[in-house]
Amino acid sequence: MILTTHAIVGGAIASLMPSHPVVAFVAGFASHFAIDAIPHWDYPLRSIALGTEGRNRVTMSAARLHDVAVVGLDGFAGFFLTLLIFKTENNTAAIVAGAAGGMLPDPLQFLYTLYPREPLLTLQSFHVNIHTKRRLGRIVGIGSQFAFAAATAVIAVVARGY
Ligand SMILES: [Zn+2]
Repeated sequence: MILTTHAIVGGAIASLMPSHPVVAFVAGFASHFAIDAIPHWDYPLRSIALGTEGRNRVTMSAARLHDVAVVGLDGFAGFFLTLLIFKTENNTAAIVAGAAGGMLPDPLQFLYTLYPREPLLTLQSFHVNIHTKRRLGRIVGIGSQFAFAAATAVIAVVARGY
């Protein structure tokens, strides 16, 4: 799933444990793999290959710049929306930790393509194995992912008893 969805799900879980940022981080990290297993759509990247065989080098090209901008915007939107939806006076650390944990496995995939060694090797094969092999079309994929993120946010907000 896209980083924004991972951040919202991580933040939603974190909002249920407002004073436990470390647990929220771990739970967010675990949630990444759980929801990657759901059939979904991911935006295509032009220069970054994230498969098990993918290898990247740290170079700059127009395509790489495009990818960095898209991924950066996605990550920024993830933090921004998650804080907007879930932040209260006393849960900021947990919310940020949950969102960061939720998104982290994807940058770790990139790190793996640069340094294909343990423990990234094991994490990468787990990530690829658990990730759904069913790729939804763009329209259905975007719609269902938006609905999923929104539903998660609503359930978490209701569960917290706003
Ligand atoms: Zn993932």
